[in-house]
Amino acid sequence: MAYSYDDQNIFARILRGEIPNRTVLETEHSLAFEDIAPQAPVHVLVIPKGKYVTYDHFAQAATEAEIVDFTRAVRAVCEKLGLEPGAEGTGYRLISNSGGHGMQEVPHLHVHILAGRPLGRMVM
Ligand code: IMP
Repeated sequence: MAYSYDDQNIFARILRGEIPNRTVLETEHSLAFEDIAPQAPVHVLVIPKGKYVTYDHFAQAATEAEIVDFTRAVRAVCEKLGLEPGAEGTGYRLISNSGGHGMQEVPHLHVHILAGRPLGRMVM
């Protein structure tokens, strides 16, 4: 499916520097920043800098360099924040809400990283 990108969405405005953000990590193709309304002790959003609406759009249209950068940026945030799964009291949840049924609010691809407490079972 074809996607049209809204240049006025809030993450586009963050990327243009029009709205401040609390940056956790920046790479060539990705930006990670703290969620403004955290749902867990750690709640970071990772976005590609490119104009992609959803995960579906990104996986179809992004370059391999963007996909590798984004995938590794998510991991790099987790490493930077000491969240890598393994030790007791670590681990995290990745969520990417996509489209209407996914209840996506901001139409620019983002992955939520949630951590810092046991997150409970997913409710479907
Ligand atoms: P969605 O429902 O998956 O689209 O999530 C959008 C997320 O963006 C929500 O968790 C919001 O709290 C977050 N958000 C909205 N505006 C801002 C902002 O200006 N800075 C950081 N996070 C934001």
